[in-house]
Amino acid sequence: LLLPDPVLVANLVRDSYQRFQGITDGKNADYIPALAQVPPDLFAIALVGVNGAVHLAGDTQVEFSMQSVSKPFVFALVCQAIGEQAAKEKLGVNNTGLPFNSVLAMERLHTGAHNPMVNAGAIAATSLVPGTTAEEKWQFLQTQISRFAGRSLTLNEVVYASEAAHNRHNQGLAKLLDAYDRIFFDPLQATDIYTKQCALNVTVRDLAVMGATLANGGVNPITGEMIIDPIHCQHVLAVMVTAGLYEQSGDWLYEVGLPGKSGVSGGMLTVSPGRGALATFAPPLDAAGNSIKGQKVAQHLSTTLGLNLFASR
Ligand code: GLN
Repeated sequence: LLLPDPVLVANLVRDSYQRFQGITDGKNADYIPALAQVPPDLFAIALVGVNGAVHLAGDTQVEFSMQSVSKPFVFALVCQAIGEQAAKEKLGVNNTGLPFNSVLAMERLHTGAHNPMVNAGAIAATSLVPGTTAEEKWQFLQTQISRFAGRSLTLNEVVYASEAAHNRHNQGLAKLLDAYDRIFFDPLQATDIYTKQCALNVTVRDLAVMGATLANGGVNPITGEMIIDPIHCQHVLAVMVTAGLYEQSGDWLYEVGLPGKSGVSGGMLTVSPGRGALATFAPPLDAAGNSIKGQKVAQHLSTTLGLNLFASR
């Protein structure tokens, strides 16, 4: 299980950049005002193999806030902390078929359709992070998410402040979770920590290294550090397949055939289990809040690199 020849991979990464660079469809997220200010033509691709090979194209120096791409990593850390069975019982692993910020998605708790890739489940996951105070939980997350990336990630203060000032919807979700005893820390503080985790800055290279760690049984391929146990990687990737692109997860799986996770800043992560991970950054989004260029690159590279999990050969 390896990526194809490195020269071919390098060419295909460069080719995808050129092929999709000119696309101008979609719109930056603007419900977080700071995200609307990000230049929409920024475009970057990184592919990292489980052997540590790194392939880059485009604006790879640019940092952007992780947003929902943080969700699988926080879920991974919660599985590691409380065990995957408890995490599954408390957070759920079924698709909601609903948008990322859906209130109904939270109501589906009662029918077992709930998961940590939508906001309600993600805020509940954040509430389960080790630590007795909000500060301890945040320190834990910043440190541990950084270990996935193999370098110290910093908070994008502008994006954090911007979302924190427009946060009543997520606060409402957290309070409803509280009413159902499905959040495990103070709801407003959990929402604030969640908002910070979403505002952690990464480059596409960071994201690809983080994803390659999930592809590599929890061992960061660059630092060689064990971040989480292999069993948790398996479960996180399963939940990404189920709900990583929210109500479009079925379309995504049909086209790309790999676990993926999108974020409203335009970041997108695609993981090829046992092989590596692809990360893209391109802010303009489709109606479901998924990066348009990111989806195209993932589909193209999944096909040309032969990564689709359902392809016979
Ligand atoms: N921080 C954003 C929110 O909670 C993340 C959403 C996303 O990336 N889809 O609304």
